[in-house]
Amino acid sequence: MATELRAPPRWHTLDGAAAAARLDTDLKAGLTAGAAAGRLAHGGPNVLQEAGLRNPLLMLASQFTDFMILVLIGAAVIAGIIGEPQDTIAIVVIVFLNGVIGFVQEYRAERAMAALKKMASPQARVIRDGQPALVDARELVPGDLVEVEAGNILPADLRLTELAAFKVDESALTGESQPVEKRLASLHDADLPLGDRLNLGYKGTVATYGRARGLVVATGMQTELGKIATLLAGEAGKTPLQKRLARFGQHLALAVLAICAIVFVAGWLRGEPALAMLLTAVSLAVAAIPEALPAVVTISLALGAARMVKQQALIRRLPAVETLGSVTYICSDKTGTLTQNRMQVDCVEAGGETRATLSDIDSAPWCDLGLAMVLCNDAATDADGRLTGDPTETALLAAAGAAGLDEAGVRTAWPRLAELPFDSGRARMSTLHRDAGGVLMLVKGAPEGMLARCVDRLTAGGVGPLDPAAVHAEAERLAAQGLRVLAFALKRLPAAPDIMDAESLESDLTFIGLAGLIDPPRPEAAAAVAACKAAGIVPVMITGDHPATARAVAHRLGIIEDGGRVLAGGRLARLSLEEFEREVESVRVYARINPEQKIKIVRALQDRGEFVAMTGDGVNDAPALKMADIGVAMGKGGTDVAREAAAMTLLDDNFATIVTAVREGRRIFDNVRKFVKYTMTSNSGEIWTIFLAPFMGLPIPLLPIHILWINLVTDGLPGLALARERAERDVMQRPPRPPAESIFAHGMWQHILWVGLLMGGVSLLTQAWAIHAGSAHWQSMVFTVLTLSQLGHVLAIRSERESLFSLGMLSNPLLLAALLLTFVLQMAVLYVPWLNPIFRTAPLSLGELAACLALSSVVFAGVEVEKALVRRGWLYR
Ligand code: ATP
Repeated sequence: MATELRAPPRWHTLDGAAAAARLDTDLKAGLTAGAAAGRLAHGGPNVLQEAGLRNPLLMLASQFTDFMILVLIGAAVIAGIIGEPQDTIAIVVIVFLNGVIGFVQEYRAERAMAALKKMASPQARVIRDGQPALVDARELVPGDLVEVEAGNILPADLRLTELAAFKVDESALTGESQPVEKRLASLHDADLPLGDRLNLGYKGTVATYGRARGLVVATGMQTELGKIATLLAGEAGKTPLQKRLARFGQHLALAVLAICAIVFVAGWLRGEPALAMLLTAVSLAVAAIPEALPAVVTISLALGAARMVKQQALIRRLPAVETLGSVTYICSDKTGTLTQNRMQVDCVEAGGETRATLSDIDSAPWCDLGLAMVLCNDAATDADGRLTGDPTETALLAAAGAAGLDEAGVRTAWPRLAELPFDSGRARMSTLHRDAGGVLMLVKGAPEGMLARCVDRLTAGGVGPLDPAAVHAEAERLAAQGLRVLAFALKRLPAAPDIMDAESLESDLTFIGLAGLIDPPRPEAAAAVAACKAAGIVPVMITGDHPATARAVAHRLGIIEDGGRVLAGGRLARLSLEEFEREVESVRVYARINPEQKIKIVRALQDRGEFVAMTGDGVNDAPALKMADIGVAMGKGGTDVAREAAAMTLLDDNFATIVTAVREGRRIFDNVRKFVKYTMTSNSGEIWTIFLAPFMGLPIPLLPIHILWINLVTDGLPGLALARERAERDVMQRPPRPPAESIFAHGMWQHILWVGLLMGGVSLLTQAWAIHAGSAHWQSMVFTVLTLSQLGHVLAIRSERESLFSLGMLSNPLLLAALLLTFVLQMAVLYVPWLNPIFRTAPLSLGELAACLALSSVVFAGVEVEKALVRRGWLYR
């Protein structure tokens, strides 16, 4: 491309046509798909450089850099040099296998995270080949014609070519806190500071108002943001659980090291060879220090998040998976989240008469109502005859069309000159149209605000007096049926004003009529509301709609009972935070709320100790989403800004998906808990076995290779299969977990202690009995009993309460497979002749094996008894 050979132009000094020529693109039709693909291949994707994926080899190597592993390998090598090299090889192989398992898991977790990030990358609307299309923002190239509107994060640097009241928050780039209103005119000073180049839009800045089109002039690292961007850090920070486990792990490591030191000294004093004792002690330390716990948490959360995407919940911040289970309040928007956002006009009112459908469009005031419905409307019919745009507006177009109004004809006859776009603060919009002899202004919006601005009303015979109380009463009546009510008004102006000031223009209006729109609840919403309540979560509805509409819909969904409290935005604004905090827990529905007020709701609930999930879709929702414990954005209808601020995106915009995600979050947390319980109990069992033996006058029960083997086969496969455990039956029948609660609560540390002791006791009993009976195989027996005890244990802790027999053996096939494999491996170690010298084992007789099986099922039975006591409420409550 010749353009690339020249110095990059000062784009703000060129007008749109010149910029298009320089970029070799079309100002109306954009690039062709072929040209865009060519430029993408040539210039690379529109991304800022990010810290890339870690090199897999380095990841594998990092598995072996742990201090204790290095000591173990060192000790094994020394032992091999002076003793049996075979032992060294076996130990190194096991350590290596352990590292490989760790690597595979970490690698999967990293890939899962990368895939999630990719899914979360924003989309951009472009015009290519003259047709609008939605593409991944990474695929934008210079010359692309892009459309942006309020709520978008600008996907690239743009030379703006069309504007409708377009304002951008550029604070991220320029530090200017006020949104900048953009202009089209080209500027002459080539060296203007970025913030003054009013006809440009910059990647990463936020469109806060209006709409625009522009040509992409720079992408990726060539953009102004790219020039200042240093490497972006990946997912920031650790989850609360990871932090706590890491801290706990450090303390535990010290305790384990102390115990291992005692084991070493005690053995040595008893006359065991020092090097052999050192190997035993270090193997025990390697097996029992749970250094992998934080990593396992990441893995479980990342894989859980990958699964949640399939259920339409896209996690943007990993800690959310963990904290979802603590949510006590879900504050949800109404429209589109609890309802279907498939609006339909249910009735219309004009001239004091309410009708089920719009008719008589040839005579006043019905013709004016029809005109307002079509003209004061940003929805449109596309080439295929489908309605596109905001559902409130498409419903109005559909109703006008059904009454026989010709959308295209009307819009050509009254071309739009200017507009005051809708914003939820005003809850209305206005459009100005050329009309015979002047300008016709049409306004539509929430009835209360509109009526206060109307001075008279249209009637069949012209203009007559307005009875606001009567119209109000009618609007209330419709709202109480759950309808969204819109009012329409008009005003005639001699000419289009120079300054579009909403306050002065939207006054002295003539009222035309009302439209009542029905928006059916989502079919699954009522069940999801009930599920929330059963799970101890309070569902709350927040809406910009009228209190009566909100109450009717909330009642239908079960969010509010008869006589329940609906708080309107006006009153909320008058309450101080302290006053509001006293009431907040009794309010289930908020109406006529503007997005800024959501912050007050989140703050009041958090001050009361609640853990809040809050949904939002607009630009102004972003601060509340950030502040909430779990911000929830909309994937279909929402803005980029809200999605950036949120911890989770609902791909289907559906309230029920939040509840599914909470359930999934609880399940994942339960399974992490089970994993911790399992490994820590196994470790505790191994420690007790080795530690207590000398005190009972017994020789060291296990060799280092046995300790490492137990650690490998039990932690590795069965432990990880626990992550696949299904949700407990009562997962949504119990109250939310307090966020600060220790993972060891509800009897976990007691379990780790006593079941560990039981494992150790059974192993030592086996040892004492076998030695007493004169068995030459006592060590193989202890080894087998301890391994199989882990398997019995993992089966028993699949549920915190339910017995294995009611869960069924087959309900976690992966775990069953892992158990069978572990069992077969243990049998191989005993019965495959060439493995015997490596593992220092001997084939057990049938009687010995039967004894081992019987003894190792003691742990299983013990834990089942523990659960039976829990079920009866006698333990850990
Ligand atoms: P929810 O908060 O339940 O999702 P919402 O966000 O759709 O509702 P807003 O969009 O803030 O609520 O709408 C608030 C009010 O503004 C509506 O009740 C309606 O009266 C009015 N309104 C909504 N859409 C339009 C529109 N396109 N033109 C004019 N007025 C509108």
